[in-house]
Amino acid sequence: MGLGGDAWRECGVGMETANLTDAKTTVGEIKARVLAFARERDWEQFHAPKNLSMALAAEAGELMEHFLWDTPEASRTKVCEDRVRRAKIEEELADVVIYALEFANMTGIDVAAAIERKMAHNAAKYPVDKAKGRSAKYTEL
Ligand SMILES: [Mg+2]
Repeated sequence: MGLGGDAWRECGVGMETANLTDAKTTVGEIKARVLAFARERDWEQFHAPKNLSMALAAEAGELMEHFLWDTPEASRTKVCEDRVRRAKIEEELADVVIYALEFANMTGIDVAAAIERKMAHNAAKYPVDKAKGRSAKYTEL
């Protein structure tokens, strides 16, 4: 059905042009790279939490635009149907993550710790025995 897990590899899409990979790069390393990029351009002055949260949402909208009006299945296959489209989708995802990491930089949020806490919270809200295979909100379980 979908392209979850490593199924995207079936698309024949490689990462041959990437120097950084998820498997070899820490969140802290990427945060430092994003921060250095902003500092070199003297952009920290513009990176208030308000502005970064709005930029993040705008980039999320650009990502969503690729799938507007698609069926769920079409959205799953679109990410591998052609390399040009996939590259554009990757760019929008990167924009979202970059703004999220710069938000963390500018607010002193430790992303890994925040995710650890939130996942624990989510696990309590969505116990496997009640949530497995269901898309209902925790208040409806
Ligand atoms: Mg963008």
